[in-house]
Amino acid sequence: MLNKQPSNPSMTTPETILVEDSADSVACDGGNGPLGHPIVYYSFDGKSVVECGYCDRVFVKAKTV
Ligand SMILES: [Zn+2]
Repeated sequence: MLNKQPSNPSMTTPETILVEDSADSVACDGGNGPLGHPIVYYSFDGKSVVECGYCDRVFVKAKTV
């Protein structure tokens, strides 16, 4: 049985961005298009995943995947 998410064409699926395992921070500007936002930096701070509060992109350290 699948738990189907209601589809909403106005919402964009958040992207998952792989980053190098050695990185301790990432920069996100949302890329081009409607999700663009001022550049922000996030520190992994010991975690292997950070999520951008602006555009919901998820940054995952490559080794984690
Ligand atoms: Zn972002």
